[in-house]
Amino acid sequence: MSKKKGSTQVTIFPDWCKGCGICAAFCPGKVMIVDQTGKAKVVREEECINCGFCELHCPDFAIMVSPKNGAPERDAAQDDGPAAPAPAPEAAPAPTAPVPKAAASKAKAQKTAAKKAPAKKAAQRDPNKKA
Ligand code: SF4
Ligand code: SF4
Repeated sequence: MSKKKGSTQVTIFPDWCKGCGICAAFCPGKVMIVDQTGKAKVVREEECINCGFCELHCPDFAIMVSPKNGAPERDAAQDDGPAAPAPAPEAAPAPTAPVPKAAASKAKAQKTAAKKAPAKKAAQRDPNKKA
């Protein structure tokens, strides 16, 4: 947003203001005062430099600083053009569950038995062949 004097509109929402005076005390442009009704009131809007202090520090969110009609929301120098599209998130590898030790050794035993099985069967078919 522009930081040029006079380019902002300072709005105070009296229903939310509790009159603590933080905004009036710290505003560099002395834009507002706390009046006799105990509420903050804008008295010198043209002195606002759009520092944002009042908006940030009002404990009751009772102040809004916005660009005046036609004022740019941001400085042209700050405008870098449209934002580049965000890169697609990389696909995370699917987590592999650890194989329990007992299950792993059982599977190994089955594999070994399967390898030996054909030789054993062949030996059973040939009665002349000695084991
Ligand atoms: S800081 Fe907020 S609550 Fe306090 S006087 Fe200013 S507008 Fe009111
Ligand atoms: S933005 Fe800064 S200069 Fe403007 S009214 Fe708030 S505190 Fe004051």
